[in-house]
Amino acid sequence: MKLICVGRNYAKHIEELNNDRPDAPVIFMKPDSCLGQKGQPFFMPDFSNEIHHEVEVLVKINRIGKHIQTKFAHKYYSEIGLGLDFTARDVQLGLKSKGLPWEKAKSFDGAAYIGNWFDKSQFSDLNNLSFQLTKNNEVVQKDTTANMMWKIDEIISYVSRYFTLKIGDILFTGTPAGVGLVERGDILTGHLEGEQAFMLNIK
Ligand code: ZN
Repeated sequence: MKLICVGRNYAKHIEELNNDRPDAPVIFMKPDSCLGQKGQPFFMPDFSNEIHHEVEVLVKINRIGKHIQTKFAHKYYSEIGLGLDFTARDVQLGLKSKGLPWEKAKSFDGAAYIGNWFDKSQFSDLNNLSFQLTKNNEVVQKDTTANMMWKIDEIISYVSRYFTLKIGDILFTGTPAGVGLVERGDILTGHLEGEQAFMLNIK
């Protein structure tokens, strides 16, 4: 099982990191060893002093597919979730400045957290899902999928040109503005359309 992630999918987040606006989705992957265990805290790694939270809407693939047209992409998933793409920003900036791959910053153990799944039929419009991340009772990230530059079905079509999608693969659809530091003792809570998707302790 693989985690396929989109970078730079919300314009305001591109501005906050001073990145250029891409003309195609920025795609990277995380291995399944990134997945935090359900019910376990996130443990701060020892190689970074700048772990950032990135809350993202998730899509679980439920059919095998390649070269999927956008208009058929909706047939490839039935569940939507919310999760965290943890990023060692200091490590990432060092690698980016040298033009090197991001894996040490994005793909370490625990770097992906997945909350509860929701049947997509309970949502009236997947292209206007509100979601938010709260850190210690303060809302730090809040947006709607209406502000994605590439919508869920477009992402599925695009990535399936390169990678065969398999049952159980998960798309991380990009983070909105408001990424920031996590520290030991923080409690992160995610909500999708008002429903709690996760609560996670940072240790
Ligand atoms: Zn991300």
